[in-house]
Amino acid sequence: MKITAVKGIPLGCACSPIGDALSTSAARQALLIKIETDTELMGIGEAFTFGAPLAVMKHIVEMQLAPMLTGQDPAHIEKLWNTMYWRTIAHGRRGLVMGAISGVDIALWDLLGKMSHMPVYKLLGACCHKVPTYASGGFYAPDKGIDGLRAELEGYMKQGYKDAKIKIGRNLERPGSPLRYMANQAWSVTEEEDIKRMETAREILGRGRMVSDANASWDSCTALRMGKELDRLKVCWLEEPLPFEDLEGLQRISRELPHIQIAGCETQQGLKNFETMVKMDAVDILQPDIGWAGGFTECRKIGAMGEAAGRKISLHCFGSAVLFGASLHLAASMANTEMMESEENPIP
Ligand SMILES: [Mg+2]
Repeated sequence: MKITAVKGIPLGCACSPIGDALSTSAARQALLIKIETDTELMGIGEAFTFGAPLAVMKHIVEMQLAPMLTGQDPAHIEKLWNTMYWRTIAHGRRGLVMGAISGVDIALWDLLGKMSHMPVYKLLGACCHKVPTYASGGFYAPDKGIDGLRAELEGYMKQGYKDAKIKIGRNLERPGSPLRYMANQAWSVTEEEDIKRMETAREILGRGRMVSDANASWDSCTALRMGKELDRLKVCWLEEPLPFEDLEGLQRISRELPHIQIAGCETQQGLKNFETMVKMDAVDILQPDIGWAGGFTECRKIGAMGEAAGRKISLHCFGSAVLFGASLHLAASMANTEMMESEENPIP
């Protein structure tokens, strides 16, 4: 079998505006990737984008990566991954190129599964056939308030979820808050209101696990000050309290908040970068995104590295059904899978 074409398929739609600690989203988008072969079989993948211009990522897939893949045997995935990595290494180790490689890799594994008549999680050596997930929501939105958050979380409980994540940290008043640089600075709350939001979540979740996600908006002092409240409210993990590259800061709060697990970082890419975070003791739970951090090929190595270091993996997942499906397969293949993100915002 030979690869005959690699195509990027951009998808997008408007949505009701939602915000985390920093960003605001009023649209959803996905870049699907289709790999065609000289047989009737084809593979589908998805590159996560973090809001990047889809035209740029499609161009990388079709103009830069496709010529490396066309005419090649799609079953030689490790070789193809390394071909894409090494031929783009000077500019591609992080960012959009690695995102594009990730989406291509997912499509290659999908194709291998179809060639083998086996689901990918079994090809990888399955660990389970059901993956625990948590409801990922609790965003800020216009006129939402505590009552809106309460209604949202109660809805998740009615669906059968026991565990959930909410956003925290959207606070323009805090000195140094990077929200001041963002296009939309509305829906800002005080620390006291964020604490009330977490108290509401704890009340509704009961003994369920609550996750608080600051989306890289705090500094170390804020994280340490808020740590007392997070401890009191039995937050299961604090996600991305600090800017992604402040590994010394993450190391410090990990040490000074021993009862709170620190999780991150969804924006991180590649085995070596996750290994650095582990070696520095910067995080307790690793959160690679399969469509961004390197696809199945790299993320299963991140999983194995984390397992050797006693770390759990909770895959970040915020895309279309293709990315969610791929994430479930990877999560089901790893022994150190912690509950996976199941995003609950509408996406058609
Ligand atoms: Mg997050």
